[in-house]
Amino acid sequence: MKPKIWLSSPHMGGNEQKYINEAFEKNWIAPLGPNVSGFEEDIKKYLQNDDIHNFEVAALSSGTAALHLALILLGVERGDEVICQSMTFAASANPIAYLGATPIFIDSELDTLNLSPEYMEEAIKDRIKKGKKPKAIIAVHLYGMPYKIDEIHKIAGEYDIPVIEDSAEALGSSYKGQKCGTFGEINILSFNGNKIITTSGGGALVTQNAALKKRAVFLATQARDEAAHYQHSEIGYNYRMSNICAGIGRGQMEVLDQRVEQRRNMNKFYNRLLGNFKGLTVHNEPDNDYFCNHWLSVISFNSNSEKLSREGLRMHMEQENIESRPLWKPMDMQPVFSDAPYYGERTAETLFENGLCLPSGSNLTEEEIERISESIQKYFK
Ligand SMILES: *Cc1c(COP(=O)(O)O)cnc(C)c1O
Repeated sequence: MKPKIWLSSPHMGGNEQKYINEAFEKNWIAPLGPNVSGFEEDIKKYLQNDDIHNFEVAALSSGTAALHLALILLGVERGDEVICQSMTFAASANPIAYLGATPIFIDSELDTLNLSPEYMEEAIKDRIKKGKKPKAIIAVHLYGMPYKIDEIHKIAGEYDIPVIEDSAEALGSSYKGQKCGTFGEINILSFNGNKIITTSGGGALVTQNAALKKRAVFLATQARDEAAHYQHSEIGYNYRMSNICAGIGRGQMEVLDQRVEQRRNMNKFYNRLLGNFKGLTVHNEPDNDYFCNHWLSVISFNSNSEKLSREGLRMHMEQENIESRPLWKPMDMQPVFSDAPYYGERTAETLFENGLCLPSGSNLTEEEIERISESIQKYFK
């Protein structure tokens, strides 16, 4: 058996070890230290542009923790409702449940595979009619593709509902020249092992509101009141990033733009290989306003037949030890969320049935890319 080709695997830049060694030398083996503040500064510098440079970044233990804190900061409580993109990784929706709130799931549209502005507005109107205005909107840039930012934020603004931008998959993407992770009231990033850059596990909360960042860090470090003895007036969490993980992050930030370039090259490769094929779609940016990091390259079959199908291709590649993966199973189809309200026309369900993520790592070798190419060509022959 040939060695495994992974969908997306960690890809170190080289300087990560240097930052970790510094932490060891100075005995900063803790959830605070110079790498944590350095990493936060690196992210801030990366996200800012000439017009907006007042970003506040809190490095945390995971993207999920960042989402949990974002919801708390926006005042989400038991019994509240939160709008959430249905087709996403479960981590986008789980923190709503942590708080005893109810997710209101929204279908995707076909241009970006993300939150449908039409169904989102329909949901907001209907929930208000039923007596409850949603407390927040969780919008996701799936596979790095920016959601319809202008439309979504216009509607959110009209109803005065804050947006949490789940940018876990979209570090390095941008919309009209502004980086993803900077559009929402609160934005979150993930540095899990399979993301475009990794700290082995980690996340960040990004906001332009200094008071919110301060409060996020307070809650993330057990909500200790200012007193020499340990005193608490609120429930806290242990959600800060460790100085070791942040050291990996600092090394990774040095190569982020290269990683974006490499992932985008993988997407170009799939466009060359499959772009002219009538039976399927290679998903690309709808127009030049969008710049996608192509964290994962996505194709979808226009229909599933016995001869050609998403599962057929997936299993064919698996036999050759090449990993591929169906799109995220929409949350409204998940047993755990079966009671949650849903607005849409099941576009995401069809995408889930027909769509496949192909190996997209920035560290794939030419030989591996050749194996992928041969395997896919064999399937379609
Ligand atoms: C990875 C991911 C998260 C969660 O991030 P973790 O750091 O793994 O907790 C949230 N949302 C989306 C869309 C993700 O892909």
